[in-house]
Amino acid sequence: MADNATMNNDLQSENYFLRQQLEALLHEARQNENKMRRFDQLQRQLVGAGSLLELIHLLFSEYKLAFGVEFVTLALIDREYEATRILENEHGNDAACSGLTLLQSSATLETLYGGKCDPYLGAFNTLHHQALFNATSGAIASVALLPLTRHGKLIGSLHLGSANPDRYITGCGTDFLERLAEIIAICLENTLSQERLKQLGLTDALTGVQNRRYFEHRCQIEISQARRHKHPLACMFLDIDKFKCVNDTYGHQTGDEVLMSVANFIQTQLRVGDTIARYGGEEFVVLLPQTDMYHACQIAERIRGCIAEENIYAPSGHSINLTISIGLSMLPAEETAVGDRQLADRMVAAADKALYQAKHGGRNRVICGQPA
Ligand code: GH3
Ligand code: MG
Ligand code: MG
Repeated sequence: MADNATMNNDLQSENYFLRQQLEALLHEARQNENKMRRFDQLQRQLVGAGSLLELIHLLFSEYKLAFGVEFVTLALIDREYEATRILENEHGNDAACSGLTLLQSSATLETLYGGKCDPYLGAFNTLHHQALFNATSGAIASVALLPLTRHGKLIGSLHLGSANPDRYITGCGTDFLERLAEIIAICLENTLSQERLKQLGLTDALTGVQNRRYFEHRCQIEISQARRHKHPLACMFLDIDKFKCVNDTYGHQTGDEVLMSVANFIQTQLRVGDTIARYGGEEFVVLLPQTDMYHACQIAERIRGCIAEENIYAPSGHSINLTISIGLSMLPAEETAVGDRQLADRMVAAADKALYQAKHGGRNRVICGQPA
């Protein structure tokens, strides 16, 4: 009898033990399933990102939410300043990119990963990791540093920081994080190719400056910035005088070369944040943010004067004397009821009207118009 009772007890406790093990396994399986579901969802969002800015924004906001990580930062190698330019152009909101570092060489990341391309999981080390995160000291206890590679080359690095010291532990399995890094690297490469294609559609094939489509897009951005910060915005229309004669005298090929040279020359006279676009034919348009009429007039006069004084050199051998007429306008004063697009139309129409006056006034001159 006593033996039977002991056996029963043993069986019961074994049963209990097995049941607990099963519960623990089920719990882990459920957790993994949740993690996979969140991962799957994030992956779909990342793959669907329509721009570099959107991808970066997703990484910084959605990743934190999906996996409850407090700190996410990203470093990208941007040797040719390509990502810098793309983000500058798209930038509505600086906050979306805080946490992003653009590096001009791979040296920093090579030092970080010791020349290998393996992830690092472990304790936060102030000396080595503080610069990667924009966090107050003591906020991060453990980190996962994931190299991003494409075709065997390092293209960037993703950094996850947790207040929990047990979140990322040395020797822990890295399959999931490595897979994530792989996907992010592919998405980065894809959005960059998308951006390149977009850029091609926004660039004038002959002169290499932006095209009218880009100008219209940029105009909206500059106008909303100018209105928000109460900055002046100047618009300049430039049209080569009697350009038909250049074609008639030297041929279209030389005409094309002259257009390229004029576009390049105008560009050299502008600042980094200014926009030049070919509006059509032998007409260019320039946007000068944070520039009042007085300074816009000085810039326009300088461009007009230089073109009139110095011959334009066409690479096929001709040196041609040209003049250019310029119409100027300012973004109309604040009228809250009027939308950005309407203001853009008024500003462009005023510059066009001023250009027309310059032509009728005898060409080779700058006319400062008033917005209608
Ligand atoms: P105005 O001083 O009144 O501006 O005279 P214009 O001759 O410059 O102006 P008009 O509008 O009469 O002629 C513009 C010329 O620009 C005619 C056109 O053949 C030429 N043109 C437009 N686009 C191109 C181009 O891509 N390449 C070349 N070579 N010529 C172009
Ligand atoms: Mg002309
Ligand atoms: Mg014209």
